Amino acid sequence: MGDDFFQAVPIPTPAGAPQWADRVAQLLGAVVQRLNAVPPSEPAEEQRARKLCSRLILQNRLVASALGACRCWGLSPRCIECGGVGRPGSFEVDTAAFEAFVAPLVRAQPQLFVAHLSQVQDDARQAVHANQGEHNGIRIQ
Ligand SMILES: [Zn+2]
Repeated sequence: MGDDFFQAVPIPTPAGAPQWADRVAQLLGAVVQRLNAVPPSEPAEEQRARKLCSRLILQNRLVASALGACRCWGLSPRCIECGGVGRPGSFEVDTAAFEAFVAPLVRAQPQLFVAHLSQVQDDARQAVHANQGEHNGIRIQ
């Protein structure tokens, strides 16, 4: 820090004051000037990046809610919302978000869902058959 810094805001000191007092007054004046300075505006590129990040965060949250997932997708054991168990299907689906993000896919490619639904039905049938062999939790063979 050169002498120019301290000369930025000359503060008059009483006549006869010690030389160090004049120097301290100059330093305090410079500090006050810096504290009162308006922060430089954010560069346009940083503003665009910040807006993009905000939009992506919102989009992620909406898509996750459309699939009944936490915004961390169950990938963060330290997540305060789910503790890392919030994968798709873990939470109640936001029906408006589902209609916006998932329903168009269901309408456009129903075969994807039909194949999965068939698998779900097969799994349910197998579970029913497996349970028919049990009575009060005791397996009967
Ligand atoms: Zn989470």
